[in-house]
Amino acid sequence: MVKKRTEHIIHPDEIEIGPFQLQLMFGEAWQGDIDLFLSSIFCDCEVSNKRLINYKSYLNSLNDITLRGICSGCRSIAIRYIETGERKEIEEIANKIRKLNKN
Ligand SMILES: [Zn+2]
Repeated sequence: MVKKRTEHIIHPDEIEIGPFQLQLMFGEAWQGDIDLFLSSIFCDCEVSNKRLINYKSYLNSLNDITLRGICSGCRSIAIRYIETGERKEIEEIANKIRKLNKN
């Protein structure tokens, strides 16, 4: 049996961002978008309708977002990677957040 990771790995190029900053990264459609990502996580467990819960949001150097939390079905750690980096104007928003969250 494959041993599952029990702790998240945060990469050196990532910074944690708050819920409001996460909204900024998604723009106007944030609520529906985030909801969709939270309910489409990959996890080996058989539970249906699982969601990512108790998550934290991270911004990386590609301006993409990683949500790290746990699976509501089996309570093991789960991740949702979201490519936001190619959205228009995302670089400006991401740079502002990065400047604010430094230190
Ligand atoms: Zn699970």
